[in-house]
Amino acid sequence: MTDYAHLAHFGNYNPASFGWGGENDPVKHPHLLVPFHFDGAYYGLMHRDAVPVFTAVFTELVPHIPGGVKYLDKHHDEGCFNNRSKTTGGGRSFHGYGIATDTNWDDNPMYGTPHHGRPGVMPAITHEIARKYGCEWGGDWSYPQDWMHIEIHLSPGNAAKVRHLGDSHPAPAPKPVSHPASPKPYPFGHDDVFGPLKDPSRHVHGGYTAMERDYVRLIKSRFVKFGYLTQHNSDADGNGIWGPHTSAACEHFDRRMGYRKITNHMGRGSYTDLMSTKARHA
Ligand SMILES: [Zn+2]
Repeated sequence: MTDYAHLAHFGNYNPASFGWGGENDPVKHPHLLVPFHFDGAYYGLMHRDAVPVFTAVFTELVPHIPGGVKYLDKHHDEGCFNNRSKTTGGGRSFHGYGIATDTNWDDNPMYGTPHHGRPGVMPAITHEIARKYGCEWGGDWSYPQDWMHIEIHLSPGNAAKVRHLGDSHPAPAPKPVSHPASPKPYPFGHDDVFGPLKDPSRHVHGGYTAMERDYVRLIKSRFVKFGYLTQHNSDADGNGIWGPHTSAACEHFDRRMGYRKITNHMGRGSYTDLMSTKARHA
């Protein structure tokens, strides 16, 4: 047996019809539900026969998700069991049987668009890994696409026997995703920006004072981390100095973020984005 796909009831959206009803129904038999954690993220309650499947899937998948798996909102512990109807209408959702998970929901909104390579976002390889373990990935559905969602299409008996088969594609070397521990708040009012040192305006701060240089160093380190600026070019502009390379990085960042105004300087809005998880990679 190469994988579990041939045992799966793909395309069948009534879990009770392939074994999850009756004695295996966690709504009637709540003792079937157990808490599920992966890499420190709490998914809430899960059907105990689903645990081997999601353990295998996430063991293989999570190294491919930039930044790994996270739950930013402690209140959101319904990543798995949730006795509700499908969001899109119709029968009881796979969540209602404790056999579906939602991963990094805030980065993978339903109806959203994938931005593969962004922190927290489900990669294209999710398709292959999910199928291999008898699961469907919501990102494969034509409408609505549900990127965060993976659900089990194996019977409980087969699900309970799933083991991690080994990775078909080794994950790329983990790239640390930078979330600054405590981002410095933007220090100016409306009229002042960070920008080229040579600008004679007193409203453009490019490294005249020690305070400006601290901030410019921070901005440049974020540009370097997200691939807008090489360390070499950052150093060429000077330590804590906003030079031509930093200006080019800033314009590139503005374009990548989809701002209407592309500039060589940075005000409160783009600064705040750059320091947050909204920052896109180049
Ligand atoms: Zn879901």
